Amino acid sequence: MLFSITDKKNLDISKVGGPIHNFIGQSRRHTFVTSAITGSSIQQTMAAGICYKWWLVSSRSLLQGHKSTVQHFIRQRRHAKEYSSVGYLPKGPDFGLFFDIDGVIVRGRTILPHAREAFRLLTDRHGNFWVPTIFVTNAGNCLRQDKSKQLSDWLGIEVKEDQVILSHSPLKMFRQLLDKHVLVSGQGPTTEIAKHLGFKRITTIETLRKRFPKLDTMDYKRKLSAPCAFENYFPRIEAVIMFGEPVRWEMNLQLIMDVLLTDGKPSVAAEEIPYPHIPVLACGVDLMWMAEAPMPRFGHGAFLHCVESLYKKITGYDLKYTALVGKPSEITYIHSEHVLQTLARNMGLPGLRRMYCIGDNPDVDIYGANLFNRYLQKKLVKCASKVPKTLLRQGAEIIEHDDERSEEGLGSETEEHMEHIGAYSCASILVSTGVYQNNDRRSLHQDHVHRDFIMDPELRKPTMEVNDVLEAVQRVFENESMIT
Ligand SMILES: [Mg+2]
Repeated sequence: MLFSITDKKNLDISKVGGPIHNFIGQSRRHTFVTSAITGSSIQQTMAAGICYKWWLVSSRSLLQGHKSTVQHFIRQRRHAKEYSSVGYLPKGPDFGLFFDIDGVIVRGRTILPHAREAFRLLTDRHGNFWVPTIFVTNAGNCLRQDKSKQLSDWLGIEVKEDQVILSHSPLKMFRQLLDKHVLVSGQGPTTEIAKHLGFKRITTIETLRKRFPKLDTMDYKRKLSAPCAFENYFPRIEAVIMFGEPVRWEMNLQLIMDVLLTDGKPSVAAEEIPYPHIPVLACGVDLMWMAEAPMPRFGHGAFLHCVESLYKKITGYDLKYTALVGKPSEITYIHSEHVLQTLARNMGLPGLRRMYCIGDNPDVDIYGANLFNRYLQKKLVKCASKVPKTLLRQGAEIIEHDDERSEEGLGSETEEHMEHIGAYSCASILVSTGVYQNNDRRSLHQDHVHRDFIMDPELRKPTMEVNDVLEAVQRVFENESMIT
């Protein structure tokens, strides 16, 4: 696999997005930054941007230290020389890709045009991925191995289970809840999903309905008449987990409400409303998603909206989530970065510095990627502030005098520090094949973000807008100054 640097005149800084673009936009030392970027890829551009930020802040005597940043910049500058002279990327890609599935790769069960072509660009002739790639979907009604098999069939390449992240995957991190008796709502193999996540005491909505036959009265034809003698002995429900939209919304809404209003014992009416209620966890907040129909379909976010509204109307209190996982929650992106970095390590690649998230929903995929990008920026500044001032001065002198001999003096300690930081940025790429479609400006202005996420229109704006997934991959390559 060969790579080449595109003509430096064609390097479009505006595509970098995030902090670098902002720094360059504010630049009062444009010459310094430009010269740092000249002849370099986005990788070096980013290092230069970080370094510029270092200069900006240190000149105001606010910075505590930036040894890591300085040293990383120097390392990147060396790489730039290797790029130019050898013409290929010596250590392999240091970026990772994160694909949404519905509306990006498929709609319903129909694979979208050019999707296979896009993934051929990311795999070698043996069908192995050469760029760390994961698939992150808010679908919560299946197991990872089933989704990876489905993806393999659609794309004609092997997608491994560890490349798939479902909306509920981060729940395994909530160890304090794994021993609790949980009520699970959704469709598909909900018990199996909960077991895979580590939960041990699981009751489905259907089981609860059978144990408490008087609760579900909405559908007269399905009403259970046989009384159950063991209602009072049924162990208390200690938490509710909503994996995804159920089939029978009326039944799930009624039983979830019963459990919340009785503090987990639906056989006995509570004397007063128990508040705070038992823990509630939900996976995936998409109000809509795109299947084969010409208009988007109700997603789990629509179901959650019903639960929240009913709870508020009945009790006068706000429903409070112990956790909201799946996109656009930061926790899902943090988990995804961890998975991508592990994949990269297993592929023998250096740590990933940039992530690209490709999705079709401005309220979920784009919002989440931009929110995560803000998180990465804060993390970077926090890490940089821990470096001693003396090293800062040393770094400044090295850059000022272009003294390569002094670079060694910075030591290996900061190399490790930078490895520890992980990714620097996360770009968001919006495709037009799903919830958002070309020429439909409405969806960029309608706010379908979940109640518990901040309303910031900036977070719904993509770094790049493209037609389809193939163009998305091509734009990533362009940004990485690569051709295959
Ligand atoms: Mg989607």
